[in-house]
Order: sequence, then C-alpha cells, then structure tokens
Amino acid sequence: MADYSKIIKNELFSNGADLVGIGSLAELPADVRRALPVGVCVAVKLPKEIVRGIAALPTKEYYDQYYIINKKLDSLVTLGAGLLKSYGFEAVAQTQDYVRQGQTGNKSLLPHKTVATRAGMGWIGKSALLVTKEFGSMVRISSLLTDAPLEPAQPLDQALCGSCTICTDACPGAAVLGKQWSVGVSREELFDAAACQKTAKERALRGFGIETTLCGKCIEVCPYTKRYLNQK
Ligand code: SF4
Ligand code: SF4
Repeated sequence: MADYSKIIKNELFSNGADLVGIGSLAELPADVRRALPVGVCVAVKLPKEIVRGIAALPTKEYYDQYYIINKKLDSLVTLGAGLLKSYGFEAVAQTQDYVRQGQTGNKSLLPHKTVATRAGMGWIGKSALLVTKEFGSMVRISSLLTDAPLEPAQPLDQALCGSCTICTDACPGAAVLGKQWSVGVSREELFDAAACQKTAKERALRGFGIETTLCGKCIEVCPYTKRYLNQK
C-alpha cells in the first residue's frame, strides 16, 4: 500500500507548511469529527520580525499577517483534503468557513488545537495557546479530518510549561489564570476569554488604531517562542 502519510506530508510541506502532524481522533466524540478517525494538523509560523515587533503593542503588520497566514492555511488544508479525496478517501478541510459554520458562541466543534495535541505537535500552554517545541506559540494552525490510513503520532496529553508563569505575569488583562493544561482541562479553566478580548481590543486600538481582538503578548513572551526567535 502507498505511504499516504508521506504523500500528504510531502504535499503540505512543499506548499509552505512549517509543521505537519497526524493524530488519531478515535477517542473524541464522533459528531465533532464527522465520524472520521484521523486528523492532520498544519502549522505556518509567523515571521520572526513581526513577532519581535509586537513586544510593546500589536502592530498593523501583525494584523495583516494574520489574514495572510489564515488564507494560506485554508488553501493548505483544502489542498490536502483534495489530495486524499483523489485517492478515494473521505476528507474534510476545517477551513475558516467550515469552522464558522460549526461554531457555537466562541467555541469551534473540533478546535485545531485539539487536533494538534492529538498529533503530538505541541501542548496547550497556560496561555491557552498551542505551544510547539520548534516555534513556541508563534504559529497559526488549521486541520483536516479524514479516513485515510495515515500513521498517527504519539499524542501529547500534558503541558510542558512546568513552573513557568511568564505568560500569566505578562498578560496586561490578567486573563491567564495560571493553571497547567492536561487532557480534559477546559479553555475556561486556563484563561478568561472576556478579559482577554477587552484587553486585546484596547491594545490593538492603541497599537494600530483598529479596535479588534488582537494582542499577541502571550505569544511573544513565551520562552519557547523566544528560543526560536533567538536561533540564528
Ligand atoms: S492575547 Fe493579550 S490579553 Fe489575551 S491572554 Fe494573551 S497577553 Fe493576555
Ligand atoms: S509562557 Fe510559560 S507558562 Fe506560558 S505557555 Fe509559555 S511555557 Fe507555558
């Protein structure tokens, strides 16, 4: 049988993905994963100079980058799902439109972050962001669901934040509550979404004159992000 894991990874990497992970979703409720057993998560990193630039306040360049990367992620997962379908498998790209349709309030049906941890790409930090060993939190992610016979990686069930409190201390809105994530810990236990939203809007307005929910302080300060930023 063809090595479909290799085929899909090659396709995604050659089209601009920075990380690709495959995870088993079998333990999640069937309705959130369209009864499909496997998830493929794709990450694209933010440019270093953009992340360095938000140390004081979010910038217009950072805001613009979100749109650029989100569009790129949509096309990557659409491409990946299309490839798997061309081999006769079922595949659903969790594009921004797909996620919006399945969203209840602020929660998506199957968050990309869940797919990412099932694929062993990283863990959920105290900041409620995905933290990867390679790039810290300076990544944006998307995912696709499939029944293709892909080889899943070992999932990550525990955070590797340890005693670090940097994002809790740095959050100007006191939105990061300081709890360590493990499977089953909800987003609400980790951070106060309303406080984050309020502060992020204020900071975006001060930073580049648009009142939008964009801050990024917890991305920039994370030591895993810093480690990548400081790599030559
Ligand atoms: S995005 Fe800003 S306001 Fe929200 S949790 Fe991170 S540091 Fe706090
Ligand atoms: S700053 Fe520290 S506590 Fe926060 S996500 Fe990064 S490693 Fe975890």
